[in-house]
Amino acid sequence: MEERQTARLLPEMTKELEVIIGLEVHAQMNTNTKMFCGCDNDAWNKPPNTTVCPICMGHPGTLPVPNRSAIEKAITASLALGATVQPDNHFDRKHYFYPDLPAGFQISQYDFPLAKGGSVPYAVADASGKTIEERTCRLIRLHVENDAGKLSHYGDRTLCDFNRAGTPLMEIVTEPDLRSAQEAVAFVQELRRILIAVNASDADMFKGMMRFDASISLREKGSKKLNPRSEIKNLNSFKSLEKALTYEGKRLADLWKKDSGPLPHDITVGWLDDEEQTRMLRDKETATDYRYFPEPDIPPMQFSTKDIENICKDLPPLPRELKARYTSLGLTDAEVNLLVNEPVLRRLFDAVHGKTGDAKRTSGIVLTQLVGFLNAHRKGLHEAPSPEHLLALVASIDAATISANTGKDVLEKMVKKGVSATDIIASEGLKQISDTSAIEAAVDRAIAQNPKAIESYKNGKTQALGAIVGWVMKETKGQANPGMVNEILRKKLG
Ligand code: ZN
Ligand code: MN
Repeated sequence: MEERQTARLLPEMTKELEVIIGLEVHAQMNTNTKMFCGCDNDAWNKPPNTTVCPICMGHPGTLPVPNRSAIEKAITASLALGATVQPDNHFDRKHYFYPDLPAGFQISQYDFPLAKGGSVPYAVADASGKTIEERTCRLIRLHVENDAGKLSHYGDRTLCDFNRAGTPLMEIVTEPDLRSAQEAVAFVQELRRILIAVNASDADMFKGMMRFDASISLREKGSKKLNPRSEIKNLNSFKSLEKALTYEGKRLADLWKKDSGPLPHDITVGWLDDEEQTRMLRDKETATDYRYFPEPDIPPMQFSTKDIENICKDLPPLPRELKARYTSLGLTDAEVNLLVNEPVLRRLFDAVHGKTGDAKRTSGIVLTQLVGFLNAHRKGLHEAPSPEHLLALVASIDAATISANTGKDVLEKMVKKGVSATDIIASEGLKQISDTSAIEAAVDRAIAQNPKAIESYKNGKTQALGAIVGWVMKETKGQANPGMVNEILRKKLG
């Protein structure tokens, strides 16, 4: 009490407050089976409690067997994040009682995690996708664990679905390097891109495959001290992460001003999506004791340098490398982001660019025309033409079989009907006329039919030539080679 009063008598604080944020990210791995049993790992839209077995239901006497693919994916992710895979590590039991945790403990990793260290460089962008700041967030660790089931609350009743129980998770813990809610979101978006790029997680936010616990505290700018923090539990979207951190940051700042300082001790809060505010769950005095001890049913894991090298050599390019590569081609930030985020578009772009060597033209075909037609006809990216079909279209344009303009129409039909360019060109008779005698005949007809235009051209009105070319193009249903029409017309008119 005394202390408080003294604090209030201090002069008004003038120092600016700085926000300190650290995250724990849980990402579900996209393996076929669960972490320690053979159950289907894809429980999406499956009836409740159907993808379960005695192991993931925690029945007594069952033995967990680690999923090799999950461990490999977690190692791949660790390497992609620059973390160091620990040669010796093991699983631990983390005990707590909750109705969605059938065994009464979670199999996780405590003091010997799979990987330590690492960092994620990321860009903070404005609303248009333009990079405004480059930053880096260091990582503390990455470990493997299994997920719990899922509770659904209906009034005074609660239902439990164990389909999710036992699905493999990576938990990634950051250093408190983030300085705003916007940075936190930009960081997790980059992390998500990396996990997807190395095929460790589908990270589908809608399906809850990525969830965040966010710790936030304040300090006076210039101070190096870390103050007690408020931990916001279980955020499952970028929006709620941003809103919850913004709300809690403001709440802590108000408390700071009122009480002249930081929180007295760590607290845990929950985020109420509907009310857009946090709610106190527990404070330090009641902090949980998980009574960790080494999992006795699973032997420790050891990885040799060779094991890790073998996984390392198959590492696909990271989003950051892709970004640098496409930026160097002279594409805009928005175009680059589209390519980094969408592997389907990337494959198509790479195929066409590999053939044409022209980034601007390729972007026009793939990112403007194709994406535009897909949107216009409400088609998903998975319904886009194959790289082979798109290359056939580009080849037809380059061989002057069709004009670039007709090529655009053909591309729209490819999207609409899902058939190849060659089929459309053949079935609709779109082949460009490059036969000199055929064009000459059309030009002769044009001269005979358009005396007025010819007259004004001869009187020096050069733009009249365009009208005559247009007439020929119309006559030939756009199939005449416009360059040749121009050339022959000029020759004939002397
Ligand atoms: Zn199972
Ligand atoms: Mn965890």
